[in-house]
Amino acid sequence: MSLQPIPLSLYVHIPFCAYRCRYCNFTFETGWSPALMTRTLDALVREAETLRRRGEADGLDWQIRTLYLGGGTPSVVPPELLLPFLTRLEETLGFRTSGLEEATLEANPENVTEESLDAWASAGLGRLSVGIQTFDTQRLAILGRWCDAQQNRRALDLVTSRWRGRWSADLLAGLPGQGDLAPQRWVDLRSDLAELLTYQPGHVSLYSLTLEPRTDLARLDAGGGVKSLTEPVADQLWLRARQGLLDAGFEWYEISNFARPGQRSLHNQTYWRLDPWAGLGPGAEGTLPKRDASGILRPIRTHNPRLFPWLAGEEASEFLTAPEFGLEHYVTGWRTKEGVDPFRWEQLFGPNSSLGAFHLDDDLRLTLNQNLLALRDEKNLHYCHSWPVE
Ligand code: SF4
Repeated sequence: MSLQPIPLSLYVHIPFCAYRCRYCNFTFETGWSPALMTRTLDALVREAETLRRRGEADGLDWQIRTLYLGGGTPSVVPPELLLPFLTRLEETLGFRTSGLEEATLEANPENVTEESLDAWASAGLGRLSVGIQTFDTQRLAILGRWCDAQQNRRALDLVTSRWRGRWSADLLAGLPGQGDLAPQRWVDLRSDLAELLTYQPGHVSLYSLTLEPRTDLARLDAGGGVKSLTEPVADQLWLRARQGLLDAGFEWYEISNFARPGQRSLHNQTYWRLDPWAGLGPGAEGTLPKRDASGILRPIRTHNPRLFPWLAGEEASEFLTAPEFGLEHYVTGWRTKEGVDPFRWEQLFGPNSSLGAFHLDDDLRLTLNQNLLALRDEKNLHYCHSWPVE
């Protein structure tokens, strides 16, 4: 039987961090041993084998187009483990990292050295995402980061002088003490942005710091140990930074992402378009086509548990109903500059499901009620779509 080629983006979750940032609620471990890291990389390769076998059983040949090593902190994996791991992944899923449309590694500044940059380049990785957050040492300490402003600068000096691929930086707005909106306080975030721009990044992810429940920062805030900004103030700061990026010529192509021409993240666009992607590793999710009992290809959502249950082989997946998939397609599509692509919508949901053009504003609400997806404001229903009951 000849297999049907399916372009696929591959997300690989490396669940280790050297330390716990106070604001972070991602899935990761800080107290790992080299043996646990090796065991985890082996398990990732086994999961890739399972992915390939399941695709073949469904008549599908995954054609890996983008790779994203995220975390956690993938840059903590030493090159002598990372390079053989990538080779095994390539052999298992039949791709070459250097030949992909995009292959990204998330890196923390303290892991960026001449040696690590050379090793990542020799592995075929072509894009780095560097977690800068701020150039203010005091605020880096409040965030629980283990690097200071000088390390951030040193990392970007190295990236700009030695790295030949593309790169992106994460910047955080709305940090504790970053201010009311008085002009002299906005200066702090403006200087972070100005300093970042001197390194000429091709891509910036600009996030607003949120107090995630059960994080150290939320506990500190509740106990009065830090004074977090109110949401409206944090939002205003973010909007000003956004304007700064627009003024500097960046394209705002997704809520938190800004790119110079030709520098968008191809991998992340997969998520917003709900194109197929596989998530390997603890805490990873994926959306893949799979044949149902009647042989029709339908989207499944895969969910992996945290590290130890995942190492023990736990996993879960479920078919997404058309309304669930449609709602998600709306929600993720509207995060992007292009909105929801009517042609893509028709591809996913059939020729009689034409979307029309809509602009969401603050009053519009998207609701899913059983099999009815509706876009409405207080008074009017602007659009609705229903699917047959399954
Ligand atoms: S390094 Fe990244 S993933 Fe790890 S704790 Fe900090 S923010 Fe979270």
